[in-house]
Amino acid sequence: MTRITVAKGDGIGPEIMDATLAIIRAAGAQFEIDEIEVGEKVYLAGNTAGISKESWDVIRRNKVFLKAPITTPQGGGYKSLNVTTRKFLGLYANVRPCMSLHPYVKTKHPEMDLIIIRENEEDLYAGIEHQQTDEVVQCLKLISRPGCEKIVRYAFEYARQYGRKKVTCFTKDNIMKQTDGLFHQVFDEIAAEYPDLENEHWIIDIGAAKMADTPEAFDVLVMPNLYGDVLSDVAAQIAGSVGLAGSANIGEECAMFEAIHGSAPRRAGQNMANPSGLLQGAIMMLNHLGQTACAEKVQNAWLKTIEDGIHTYDIYKEGVSKQKVSTSEFAEAVIANLGEKPTQLKSVSYANSSALQLPRYQRKAPKNKELVGVDVFVHWSGTDPDLLAQELAAIRTPALELSMITNRGIKVWPDGFSETFCTDHWRCRFKAGSGKQLSKSDIVMLLANAESLDIDTIKTENLYEFDGKQAFSMGQGQ
Ligand code: NAD
Repeated sequence: MTRITVAKGDGIGPEIMDATLAIIRAAGAQFEIDEIEVGEKVYLAGNTAGISKESWDVIRRNKVFLKAPITTPQGGGYKSLNVTTRKFLGLYANVRPCMSLHPYVKTKHPEMDLIIIRENEEDLYAGIEHQQTDEVVQCLKLISRPGCEKIVRYAFEYARQYGRKKVTCFTKDNIMKQTDGLFHQVFDEIAAEYPDLENEHWIIDIGAAKMADTPEAFDVLVMPNLYGDVLSDVAAQIAGSVGLAGSANIGEECAMFEAIHGSAPRRAGQNMANPSGLLQGAIMMLNHLGQTACAEKVQNAWLKTIEDGIHTYDIYKEGVSKQKVSTSEFAEAVIANLGEKPTQLKSVSYANSSALQLPRYQRKAPKNKELVGVDVFVHWSGTDPDLLAQELAAIRTPALELSMITNRGIKVWPDGFSETFCTDHWRCRFKAGSGKQLSKSDIVMLLANAESLDIDTIKTENLYEFDGKQAFSMGQGQ
């Protein structure tokens, strides 16, 4: 028998988990449970990760994890268990269906039915942040080719499996040409392998505006982590309520299923909360386990219950709803509807909805990588870039010449504008003189020269060409 790991979480977690498990059990789901404790109690007992080593062992052994929301205590350096779980277990794909249930749940978008597939492991969520000068902090945005290939392929395979017609990519590659540019490029490469599916790319700002205004124009959406984090909540909310959406976090080995909402502590213990979000996560879990007939039965019974107007307080609306029910009464109503299908809302068919089997990423042959310069970041409290350029002229080496200074990305030397506001964080670009071959020792020499003149270098970034192609951004205005 399949064993799954279950965490009942905090706040409303235990109530909605009990309701969810009762429904899927009644529908004939086949699994046994290992229950673990995660969240508030574990945090407050002094474990800043919110989870014990023994619990990790259970999660890794069972590979499938159904998790109720947890409370992350404020302050005290507690790490988000969700982020940690996604990263430790390599759960690279976050899948969030956002579908309107018009006219039973209020929405301005009756036709909306989209899936957001969010990259879940990298981007600004690598959490690599540093203070570099008195005035400037930085967060490193990391986008990898394997990360892009895995998530984009997942989106196309998902679209094909669920009979979707179009995959849309959102990035901001007009500004972030290297990071978002790679995501977009990989999207174009992989889209070409799926001629049966429409594909399109939108710049995230106008794409997000379009999604919020006309969500029915979209079908499957794929995007980097941060954009997906924000837009999947927007999509769930405009579909009707964040309380109704579930999410799947899928990796090559393991998977975690959950509601997208939090632990709603003010509603805890009152048997009031809506278990629908977690139930949606559980339905995705059943599909993942290959128990597709059971998943279909639960989803159709749930749709029928919503359509019957049997609603928890959060979606109850006079005139539309018929009965305001508690968490456990809602579960009983869904159980009573098992075997039924909705008549107004579209019923589902999950015949082909088992876990996707994707090829493992194959590392490509390395490109020819040539060092062509270095960006030296300097903490300097002056205001006139010409003076900094004069100081830096003294540290040049036989192979490296100062070619540009930027401040927060804007070129301020040579030929800067006096109007440009400058902080104390300066990127000083040194390039190889013509015909000069560079090595790392040239950079070491440059830094040693800077040190001897008391120039405060805070970090360096090597400049490369890969197969003869420049692989770093220009200064803005360069
Ligand atoms: P929340 O989602 O818990 O609550 C937001 C609002 O939605 C509240 O008014 C709440 O009453 C309502 N709500 C949420 N789920 C509901 C449901 N199922 N039925 C009815 N009403 C529901 O968000 P929050 O208040 O910002 O966060 C509370 C706690 O949850 C925090 O500690 C936060 O860290 C945590 N959190 C956990 C997760 C997770 O574990 N996946 C996600 C988000 C927030």
